[in-house]
Amino acid sequence: MFKLFTVAETLDPVKATGGMIIVPDYTFETAPAAKVVVIPAQSAADDAHPLCPVCDMEVAKATSPSLSYRKRIYCFCMEEHRAMFEAGPAAFLG
Ligand SMILES: [Zn+2]
Repeated sequence: MFKLFTVAETLDPVKATGGMIIVPDYTFETAPAAKVVVIPAQSAADDAHPLCPVCDMEVAKATSPSLSYRKRIYCFCMEEHRAMFEAGPAAFLG
């Protein structure tokens, strides 16, 4: 039998896509030796699900607020983040 536990850099809760909160059981320093290590795949941003440039959350392009900046379309998780980006795009790019 395997005992399941989660390990992260710190014990701070990790917010996953969709708002699910994962609280790590151990840090890299305190984790017991594992028999099997599972690393969740990072979901790569695709055309239909770009990342909000403000908070890196995956958004549904079809329904998200968006704006065009320097010939690129940016999609946002919420109107507030669209407004933040619009006020100073440079802070969220690069
Ligand atoms: Zn956002």
